Amino acid sequence: MAPGSAGAPQGWTGQVTERTLADGRPILYFDDARRAGPVHEAVDQRPLDGLPRAGEVRYDVLTGEWVTIAGHRMNRTFLPAAADCPLDPTRDPAHPSEVPDSDYDVVVFANQFPSFAPVAVESGVEAPPFGPADGPAYGHCDVVVFSSDHEASVVDLPAQRMRTVVEAWAQRTAAHSADPRIAQVFVFENRGQEIGVTLTHPHGQIYAYPFLPPRAGQLVEQARRHREATGGHLLADVLRAEQAAGRRVVLAGEHWTAYVPRAARWPVEVHLAPHRDVPDLAALDDAEKAELAVVYQELLRRVDRFHPGVDRVPYIAGWHQAPTGADRELGRLHLQLFSLLRAPGKLKYLAGSESGMGAWINDTTPERIADRLREVAS
Ligand SMILES: [Zn+2]
Repeated sequence: MAPGSAGAPQGWTGQVTERTLADGRPILYFDDARRAGPVHEAVDQRPLDGLPRAGEVRYDVLTGEWVTIAGHRMNRTFLPAAADCPLDPTRDPAHPSEVPDSDYDVVVFANQFPSFAPVAVESGVEAPPFGPADGPAYGHCDVVVFSSDHEASVVDLPAQRMRTVVEAWAQRTAAHSADPRIAQVFVFENRGQEIGVTLTHPHGQIYAYPFLPPRAGQLVEQARRHREATGGHLLADVLRAEQAAGRRVVLAGEHWTAYVPRAARWPVEVHLAPHRDVPDLAALDDAEKAELAVVYQELLRRVDRFHPGVDRVPYIAGWHQAPTGADRELGRLHLQLFSLLRAPGKLKYLAGSESGMGAWINDTTPERIADRLREVAS
């Protein structure tokens, strides 16, 4: 905490307004500050059909993993011209976007082309010969827009706005976790066309899955083994070990520590963990959320500075949260932030060993990554 700010209120002082889009999807406006009187009353005038539908999930009997079949997503918006950006506010009613109002701070709405949705379509193909039956791709896919400014980037958001983004993440995590059909809530941001971003407007996403995704399942199993072997909590013990060793710690706050994982698999990778054992973003207290808004931007800034001569490094920032149901106690909140850019103009491709076998080879060392992330600190 900065000197002189002790005792200052740290709670979020904004407000949330929930509305509905023309096809019935929810849209939530998160304002940085409370406003007097009615707000965000603009009505979506588009002639949209009913709620978007999701496809199905099929069980891969070879790996034990669920695969989502979302054929309808082939037609989704791909890198539209700036004038047709669906995440801009609707400044001209004759030219409506996904956001009916003419301005907003942070806005969250259900994706028009979802991988998972509350309403799913039947595929009509034959039942699997053995193993679990196909199921609907039930779930929720939120789009979280960080700014009404098409050219903005997360690193440049004012501190108060970043705090509102954190609040939106936390509140949506809580809302989706309350759905008994949801097993895992994943908050993430992809940046850069190298990652496959189809809209350049600054935004992130939230996926609420009806099953435990593979990495979440692996984390739970490893945490279970660790508990049986040592009685400890895996993710808490990893954090303590990194803090004790210090070699790969790149940032240490009052409530959060960032470190490069001992077995980092990406050419740029850093994890951020809260000091307190919390299952998810919804469980953070005000002081933790306030510091998170600051350290998150600082980490992104360092990633941007990682490669000399590259201004905007493509990255994926993903929040691993505890499962919402069974084995919740084995999970613990942490961020995995990584880039597949290994040098200016050179991408780390997931080729034969990684894509075909799932066996990772990193061309640098985690210690070197940590050195660089400390070197470029603000
Ligand atoms: Zn835009």
